[in-house]
Amino acid sequence: MPEQGFATVVAVDGPAAAGKTTTCLALARSFDLRYLESGRTYRIIAFEALQREIPVDNTGKITGLCDELITESRSESLLTSERYAPEKLRAAPVNVAVSTVAKIAEVRQRVTSLIRLWAGAQTRCVIEGRDIGTAIFPAATVKFYLTARPEIRAMRRVRQERAASYENVLNDVIRRDAADMSRTVSPLVAAEDAIRIDTSELSLVEVLSRMSSACRNRGLEINR
Ligand code: C5P
Repeated sequence: MPEQGFATVVAVDGPAAAGKTTTCLALARSFDLRYLESGRTYRIIAFEALQREIPVDNTGKITGLCDELITESRSESLLTSERYAPEKLRAAPVNVAVSTVAKIAEVRQRVTSLIRLWAGAQTRCVIEGRDIGTAIFPAATVKFYLTARPEIRAMRRVRQERAASYENVLNDVIRRDAADMSRTVSPLVAAEDAIRIDTSELSLVEVLSRMSSACRNRGLEINR
């Protein structure tokens, strides 16, 4: 079982801009969990491919780049590398390229191994992504699938990152969801045993309250 070696994994999956980061950070504080944003690694690979002018749909070259980045970051792990500013990884060209990179099976295998290795070194963690509860940790302690209507997700993202226009963000959200849900390897889908929360009509406090009580029900203790 890939889950051996750690005690608690909270898996939070869902489409783009569904509020995964905000809720995971809050859960991490409340329940004293280490937090991992798995999408960041796919973004780093896409960012480096664009910097080095490597076509993002070239499986061989992108896999080679992935290996190179993992080797380069040996001492710190590519997952948690502090070399990349969030605004660079969240730039529009990276948003466009990232789902293409994330479709490549060889890249997913490598990122999956890194995530399992990282989680194996933690006692309690919360990981957000697209395939955490389905492919990476099918036996996670608690699984959430967060979603909301695309228009609502886009509006929330625009409020959060003031620079981007609503239309651009909405198009990006719709395009990435379609790519992530339709890919052959670990497509974005809710795990059968995931707690599905549609946050369209819920406040952040309400979402957190549902997630926190599910975590408590599974034996996680509040950090005092
Ligand atoms: O979470 P975030 O929106 O930053 O993820 C960026 C992209 O990385 C997603 O649109 C998806 O293509 C990919 N991703 C993935 N599997 C994960 C996390 C992210 O395929 N576990």
